[in-house]
Amino acid sequence: MTEAATGTRRSCAATHARDVADVMAELASSPQGLTSEEAKRRLLQHGPNALPTGTRRHPFLRFLAQFNNALIYFMLVGALAAAMLGHLVDSGVILAVVLVNAIVGFLQEGKAENALAAIRDLIAPKAHVLRDGQRISVPMAELVPGDIVLIEAGDRVPADLRLLRARSLRIDEAILTGESVASTKRAEPSADAAALGDQHGMAFSGTLVATGQGTGVVVATGLGTEIGRISELLGSVEELTTPLLRQINRFGRRFTWFAFVGAAALFAFAVGLRDFAWDDALIAVVALAVSLVPEGLPAVITITLAIGVQRMAARNAVIRRLPAVETLGAVSVICSDKTGTLTRNEMTARRVVTSEETLLVQGAGYDPAEHRLFADGGSEGHATTLSLIRAGLLCNDARLHRDDTAWHVEGDPMEGALVTLAMKAAFDSGETRAEWPRLDEIPFDAAHRFMATLHHMPMAEKVVLVKGAPEAILAMCDRQEARGGSAPLDAGYWSERIAEAAGEGERVLGFAMRPMPGDAQGVDFADVERGLVFLGIIGFIDPPRDEAIRAIAKCRSAGIAVRMITGDHAATAQTIARQLGLGEDAAVLTGQDLDRLPLDGFAAAVRETVVFARTSPEHKLRIVEALQAEGRVVAMTGDGVNDAPSLKRADVGIAMGIKGTEAAKEASEMVLMDDNFASIVAAVHEGRTVHDNIRKVVGWTLPTNGGEALTVIMAIFFNFAMPMSPVQILWVNLILAGTLGLALAFEPSEPGVMRRQPRRPDAGLLTPFILWRIIVVSLFFAGISLGVFFWALGHGRDLETARTMVVNMLVVLEIFYLFSVRYLHMTSFTYTGAKGTTPVLIALAVVILGQLAFTYLPVMNAIFGSSPLTLADGTLILAIGAASFVLLEVEKHFLRDRFRAE
Ligand code: ATP
Repeated sequence: MTEAATGTRRSCAATHARDVADVMAELASSPQGLTSEEAKRRLLQHGPNALPTGTRRHPFLRFLAQFNNALIYFMLVGALAAAMLGHLVDSGVILAVVLVNAIVGFLQEGKAENALAAIRDLIAPKAHVLRDGQRISVPMAELVPGDIVLIEAGDRVPADLRLLRARSLRIDEAILTGESVASTKRAEPSADAAALGDQHGMAFSGTLVATGQGTGVVVATGLGTEIGRISELLGSVEELTTPLLRQINRFGRRFTWFAFVGAAALFAFAVGLRDFAWDDALIAVVALAVSLVPEGLPAVITITLAIGVQRMAARNAVIRRLPAVETLGAVSVICSDKTGTLTRNEMTARRVVTSEETLLVQGAGYDPAEHRLFADGGSEGHATTLSLIRAGLLCNDARLHRDDTAWHVEGDPMEGALVTLAMKAAFDSGETRAEWPRLDEIPFDAAHRFMATLHHMPMAEKVVLVKGAPEAILAMCDRQEARGGSAPLDAGYWSERIAEAAGEGERVLGFAMRPMPGDAQGVDFADVERGLVFLGIIGFIDPPRDEAIRAIAKCRSAGIAVRMITGDHAATAQTIARQLGLGEDAAVLTGQDLDRLPLDGFAAAVRETVVFARTSPEHKLRIVEALQAEGRVVAMTGDGVNDAPSLKRADVGIAMGIKGTEAAKEASEMVLMDDNFASIVAAVHEGRTVHDNIRKVVGWTLPTNGGEALTVIMAIFFNFAMPMSPVQILWVNLILAGTLGLALAFEPSEPGVMRRQPRRPDAGLLTPFILWRIIVVSLFFAGISLGVFFWALGHGRDLETARTMVVNMLVVLEIFYLFSVRYLHMTSFTYTGAKGTTPVLIALAVVILGQLAFTYLPVMNAIFGSSPLTLADGTLILAIGAASFVLLEVEKHFLRDRFRAE
C-alpha cells in the first residue's frame, strides 16, 4: 500500500497545475469512470482508501483501567489493612470482590465497545462514483485512483480529487489549511507553486463541501492523500463516558471519603467507648466500609448505557455520542422534517397543470408501465403539457432503474417521480436526455429553492429550464406557456391551482424556461432572475408513513410535543399534519411570518405553532433556541449541510441516514438508519428505559449496601455481639458483586414508559425517591436482620447459626427487593414480574448456589464461620423475605404517585 500510495502521491505533486485531460490520461481513466474489474484490480494494488484509525486499547490496559477508580482504591487499602492485621481470609475475600468486579466490568465493557464499533460501521460514509458509466455509491474505502467521484454540498470529500467540473463549488478546507472561509473551486489548473489553500482545481480528502456540486478524478487515496500525510491517527475510539457516569464517579469519590471518615469515627467509638480490641474493631470497620462502597456501580451503569445503544441500533437509531442515550429519555419536544421522515418519500406525480389543462395521473410508485398518460401517445393538443413534462425530465439528476422486482430511484425521489411521469407520457428518458444535452446547471439549494439547467436543443438553440418551489419560480416569470406561443402570466390562476394541489397535501413544483442565445456557455443566477416563461406546476403525493401516525399518537401520551419544520408549502404541510394526527387545523407559520415577528413575540409564537413551513435552516436554529429557553429538551432532525448549526444546538441532533449529508451526520448525536420518525420515538422509548434502569441499579445498590452496613453499625453502637463477622460481611459483598445489581442493567422497558411525562431534565440521580429508599430500606433491612439475630439467639441457636441466618436473611431480602425494584412505576405482583428475565434468573441461580455453599459446604463453614441451617430456619427466612416484599410493594403503591414526576 505504502509504495503504491507514494507512487500516486508523487504524480499528485503537480497534479493541481496540470490539465485535466493530462491527469485523466495518466490515470488511464475516462469520463464514464473505471470498469468495475479495473477498480477491483486497482483496489488490490493500492489498498483500501482508509486511514489507520486509533487502535483500541490493549485488553490488558483495559483490564487495568477497571481498577482505576476511587472506590476500588478504597477496597485495595481495605485488603491491605486486613492482611497487615493477619486476617488473610478477609483480605482474600476483599481482593476476590475487586477481581470479580474487574472481570465483569472488563468483559461487559469489551462487549459494549465491540458493539459500539460495529454500530459505527453502520454509518460509515459512502461515495458516489461512476463505474461502468453508471452512478453508484460505494463504501469510501473502496475508492481507487482513477475513479470518477461526484461530490455535492454536505459531502466529505472521500479522497484527493483533481476536479473535472465544478459548479458553485466551495469547499471548507479548515482541517487542512486552518482557513475558515470555504475556498472556491474550479476545474482549471493553478500555478505549480500554489499552496494547498490556493490549489483551486483540487478537492482534498476529509474536507467538507460547503456549496455546489463537482466531479473529480481520484488522484490519491488512503495514506497517499494530504490528510493521510499529516494525520496518522484519526477517529480514535470514543470514550465511554456521559454526564451521568461522571456524576456517579464524582459521587463515588465523595462517598469514599464519607465511608472513610465514618469508619474512622466508628473505630474510635468502638475502641474508646465500647472496649473493642483495636484489631477486632479495625477489621470490623474495614469490612463495614468495604460493604458500604458501591464499587460495582460505575461499571454497571456503563453497561446499562451500552445496552441502550445496542437496543437503539436494533431500532434503526444509531447513537454517535453516548450522552445522547441519557438525553433522549428526557426529550420533551421533537422537531421533525416532513419529507421522508414523517412521509414516505416515495413520490408520485399526480397532478400536471398547464395554462391549458389539468391532468390527473394514475398509478403509484415509480413503475411507469401501466399508466399511459395519453391514450394516443401524446398528440399535438398536449404540446404545453409535454414541454412541462420534458422540462421535468431534463432539469433532473435522478436515474431510474429496474431490478427483478421493482423500479428504484438513484437520486432525489421527487426527481425520480418526474422521470416516471415522462415515461408515462411516452418519453424515452435516455433518448430525450441525449437529444437535449445538458451544458451547465445551478444546483438545487434549500436556500434558494430551485435548480436550473442549460440545454442544447435539437435545433441548435439553447434553453434554460428551471424547477423549484412555485412561488420562487413564479417570481422569475412574466409570461406563461400557452398554445402556440406564450401569453402574459396569470398569477391569480396559478395561485389558485397551487392552493388546490397543496390543499390536497400534494407537494408542488413549478417549472419555467427561457430561450438562450446559441453562444451561451453557462447559466448564472442573473439569467434566471426574471423574464422566464412559466410552464406549469406538477403536484406530487407523498403519503404519511403509517408508523409515523402511530408514533405521533405515542408522543402525545408520552407528553412529548411534535413540531413539523419543513421547507415545503404551508398548505401542503398543514394537510399532511392533519393526516398525521398533529391537529385538525394545526397552527402554521411560514419562514416569512417568523421573520416579521417582533423579537419578544417569537417565543410565544413558537410555543403555539405546530407546523413551520417554507423555513430555512436559520429558522430551525431560532426555533430550537426559543424552545430551549423555555426549558424544553429538544430533539431536532436535519439532513442538509446548513442544518449543522441547529443539529449541534439541539439537545439531541438527529441526522437522516439515507438522505442526510455527511455534514449533518457529523453535527448530530444520532443518525436514523431509515430516516423514519417512528425510529426517533423508539429511541426515546429506549432512552427512558435506560434512565429507568440506571435508577433501578442505583435504587437497588445503595439501600442494600446501607442495610448491610447499618446492621453492623447498630451492633457496635448498642454494644451487642456482632450479627455478622467481618468476613461474612465481605462474603455478602462478594456474592452480590456482578450478580443481582448487574441483572438490572438488562431490564426490558416497563409497560407504561411511553405513558409517562418526560422526566425533569435537571433531576439528578439521587432523587428524593432514591434517598427515601436508601434510608427506609436500610433501616428496614437492618431491623429485620437484627430481629432474626436476636430471635435465633433467644431460641437457643449458637452464635454461628444465628450469624448464618443473618447472612442468609440479608441475601434473601436483597433478592426480594430486586424483584420489587424491577418495576419502579407499577406493582411487581404480576406473572411477568415474578418470572424475571434471563439475566435475573442467571444472577439468582449464582446467588442461590453461592448461599447454599456458604451454608452447607464444610470448607465454607470453616472459612466463613457459618454453620448449616435447618429446613425450618430456612423456611422462616424465606417467609420473612416474602412478607417484606409485600410490605415494600405496599410502600411503592402509596409512594409511586408522589414520585412519579421524577
Ligand atoms: P423537509 O424540510 O420537510 O424535508 P422539503 O424537502 O420540502 O421539506 P427542502 O428540501 O428544503 O424541504 O425543499 C424546499 C422546497 O424546494 C421544496 O418544497 C420544493 O418546492 C423545492 N425543491 C426541493 N427539491 C427540489 C429539487 N430537487 N429541485 C427543485 N426544487 C426542489
